[in-house]
Amino acid sequence: FIAPNPTIPPMSAAALAALLRERQPCVVLTGAGVSTESGIPDFRSPTGIWAEVDPFEVASIQAFRRDPERVWRFYRERIHLLRDAEPNSAHRALAELERRGVVAAVVTQNIDTLHSRAGSREVVEVHGSIRSARCLRCLWSEPADAVLAQLETAPAPLCPHCGEVLKPGVVLFGELLPAAEMERATQLARSARLVLVVGSSLEVWPVAGLPLEACAFAIVNRGPTALDDHALLKVDAGASETLSKVLDAL
Ligand code: NAD
Repeated sequence: FIAPNPTIPPMSAAALAALLRERQPCVVLTGAGVSTESGIPDFRSPTGIWAEVDPFEVASIQAFRRDPERVWRFYRERIHLLRDAEPNSAHRALAELERRGVVAAVVTQNIDTLHSRAGSREVVEVHGSIRSARCLRCLWSEPADAVLAQLETAPAPLCPHCGEVLKPGVVLFGELLPAAEMERATQLARSARLVLVVGSSLEVWPVAGLPLEACAFAIVNRGPTALDDHALLKVDAGASETLSKVLDAL
C-alpha cells in the first residue's frame, strides 16, 4: 500500500485522468452514489433510504426469517423502482473506459444491474442483484420476471420446485457475501495498480476493505468516506460530471 502523495495537484478530474493513464490496470469499485443520478436513493445520505425505514426491519436475514412478507413488500417496490431506472452518464462513462481498455473491471455493491445495462462487461456484483430470487432450501434461482408475476397475486413468491418462500437475490444484512464474487473482487483489487472508488461511503464491510488490498486507490464521492485520508486522490463531486470530464481528458 502506498501512502498519499502530497505533491499530487488539487483534486480534479484532470488529475484523476492522469492517474488512470499512469496506473494500469485500474479496477473500479462503485456504490449507491453512482446510481443516485438515475433516481435511485442511496442509503446513508440525509435523503437516503435508511432515513425513512429501519434496515433491520426490512432488509435483514433475521427479518426475512421472521416475516418474509414484510421483506417482500419492501423489495417488490424496490425491484420495480430499480427496473424502471436508466443508466446515467457515470455508468456509461465507466462502460466506455472499459471499451477503451482503461478500466479492467467494475466491482459493484449495487444491486440495480445498471452497469451491465450501460454496457460494462466485466462486472462483479458483490451484494447480489435484483435479477433473480433464491430458494434457501433447494438453492433454485428464479428470474425476476417470474418473481414479480407471483407477487401480483401473492404476498411472497414461492420456489417452483420445493414450495419454500424465495429470498430476494440480494445480500441481506446478517448474510455472508457470495464467496466466488468476493474472491474475484479481492483478486482484481490485488492485481490493480489503482482502485477507483465511485459513489461509496466505504462504510459497509468487507467491501469497504477492497481499496486497501490494492497498492493505491482514488475516490470520487460527494461527501466524506471512511478512507479519504488514505487515498492518493479524492474528487469531492458528482460521479457523472467527474467521469464525463475524465473521459474528455483521456
Ligand atoms: P452509501 O449510501 O453508504 O454511500 C453512497 C455515497 O455516495 C455517499 O457518501 C453519498 O454522499 C455519495 N453520493 C451520492 N450521490 C452521489 C453522486 N451523484 N456522485 C458522487 N457521490 C455521490 O452507499 P454504499 O457505499 O454503496 O453502501 C451501502 C449499500 O447500499 C451497499 O451495500 C449497496 O448494496 C446498497 N445500495 C444499493 C443501491 C443500488 O443498487 N443502486 C442503492 C442504495 C443502496
